[in-house]
Amino acid sequence: MAIQSSYGHFIHGEYAAPASGRYLDSINPSDQSIVTKIAEGNAEDVEAAVASAKGAQQAWAAMRPLERGGLLITLGRLLKENIDEFARAESAEMGMPLDFAHMAMTGAANYYEYYGGLAPSLHGDNIQVGPGQHSYTVYEPYGVVGLITPWNGPLNQSARGAAPALAVGNAVLHKPSEFTSITALMLAELAIEAGIPPGILNVVTGTGAGVGNHLVEHPDIHKVSFTGSLRTGQMIGHAAADKVMAVTLELGGKSPDIVFEDADLEAALPGVMFGFIGNTGQICLAGSRILVQRSIYDKFSNMLADAVNNFPVGLDKSAPSLGPIANEAQFDKVLGYFDVAQEDGAKLLAGGERATGGELDKGFYVRPTVYGDVNNAMRIAREEIFGPVGVLIPFDTEEEAIAIANDSEYGLAAGIWTRDLSRAHRVAGQIESGQIYVNYYLESSVEHPLGGYKKSGIGREKGIVALKQYCELKNISIKL
Ligand code: NAD
Repeated sequence: MAIQSSYGHFIHGEYAAPASGRYLDSINPSDQSIVTKIAEGNAEDVEAAVASAKGAQQAWAAMRPLERGGLLITLGRLLKENIDEFARAESAEMGMPLDFAHMAMTGAANYYEYYGGLAPSLHGDNIQVGPGQHSYTVYEPYGVVGLITPWNGPLNQSARGAAPALAVGNAVLHKPSEFTSITALMLAELAIEAGIPPGILNVVTGTGAGVGNHLVEHPDIHKVSFTGSLRTGQMIGHAAADKVMAVTLELGGKSPDIVFEDADLEAALPGVMFGFIGNTGQICLAGSRILVQRSIYDKFSNMLADAVNNFPVGLDKSAPSLGPIANEAQFDKVLGYFDVAQEDGAKLLAGGERATGGELDKGFYVRPTVYGDVNNAMRIAREEIFGPVGVLIPFDTEEEAIAIANDSEYGLAAGIWTRDLSRAHRVAGQIESGQIYVNYYLESSVEHPLGGYKKSGIGREKGIVALKQYCELKNISIKL
């Protein structure tokens, strides 16, 4: 599956030229070369894709779950067999180092295998209301589900939504980010090879304004799963309210990673560092607010600054290394936050500038960055930067750490580093976040539910819980 020079949409089992006849350039962020051209979709393309999905969905839903799930497992296995091609494509479009891209592709394949295996496990309840009535519930698919994904983890995030939606019998219309569409198209092709019927996984590419909003507003789309920025999530939430449509919103974060004085600092160091520089910091779950107990603050901040300063930047380095920021707009945003940090009066401990020299000059590279003595009121402590930037905030007591951790409009994830198990449970119980890691940060999983408190989102993805997020629940009661 080599990268093609241009791609149409993938509708009903084949590539289709865009109705507009127009294409968008997909740019490699490591050198700004053109990777390919992707179709610039519009309402007409969305209409064609929804019609195809609607026509195919009922037979898919009627298939025995064991058989339907088996096809998803086959898709996951085919993805693993083709993992090198997928990793290369994702790396070219998004800038992920190849080792990271392999991990992300494996994660995507795991979603198809996991939800394929779970497909036959879906079952309703028998509600015991006495001998005069037989009452039970059944889960039914919505029909056609719209899936809108961002550029920071393209295939992995799409698999996270598509796999459970497909497993319970929905058809999916996927709109990937206009910056990173290739692997979504390659996967839709592979789905046909796996035996998944045409129309069940359609992909329409293009912008939010050209495709995304038509998808959200379409009367035959009955649920939308969106991963992306808070601002777009709010707009989709408004549109969904007008339609009275179900939505899952996976939005941003500014997650605290708390290092207590009794932590194993040698173990915490790589965990904390990858928590905010992994994927060049472009991870919604990034532990970018690092709260460190004052008694170990100097020691740990020196350790972290050293490690970050020595971390290799560039795709040509031996793994692991830091890739470029995924696109120019995001690159400019991250550089802008270096100025904001200066204005805020934060103390620069590492990085804080564009990474230059040799091949780096052609791409959107920044140095991994740490600021010290940060106050939680500063903009760099409150706003999601979405780059490899960590801010260090000192604290004295457990209560203060919890208060700072919760003083955020977001609530996606949190890390806790301690050897005290009681403290770990106590603190975890009080933090307002959907996902808490104790003594590690951010290992890829399909089993753990993911979702946000506060402005980090609505609903949950991943884990068994996600299956039911793609279903209507029906109660049937029979008077005996
Ligand atoms: P974005 O909101 O700009 O775009 C996300 C997707 O929405 C893209 O496909 C885009 O084309 C589409 N879109 C844009 N406007 C639209 C509209 N009006 N209607 C419908 N669709 C529209 O986000 P981004 O910049 O691509 O991604 C970065 C953001 O995503 C960060 O804030 C990050 O935290 C968040 N994110 C969240 C999670 C999570 O699981 N919580 C995971 C990854 C990224």
